[in-house]
Amino acid sequence: MSEVVEDFARQDFPRRDYLDGNAAAGILSDLFSADITSARGQCVNCGNQAVVAAARLYPDDHGMLLRCAVCESILVRIVETDHSTCLDLRGMAFLEIFA
Ligand SMILES: [Zn+2]
Repeated sequence: MSEVVEDFARQDFPRRDYLDGNAAAGILSDLFSADITSARGQCVNCGNQAVVAAARLYPDDHGMLLRCAVCESILVRIVETDHSTCLDLRGMAFLEIFA
């Protein structure tokens, strides 16, 4: 999966054949309603690939941290406020969501 993503990212930019972000509404809605715990991700720090359910969850009053079960690096941060939920996925090289 990551090679496909890297090949896509290597395309020459800027390109003029883009759409605005509204065009992604359908696929993003499908992805965010899927069971993410069965998705497979890769830790940016150590390269471990595992399903999200294998990560370690550390909840607190503001949200939660998901940490890699191998190296303990932060994979995902979720912070909830009264007005929003912020999702930080910088700790994952990719997240592969299965159909
Ligand atoms: Zn790791």
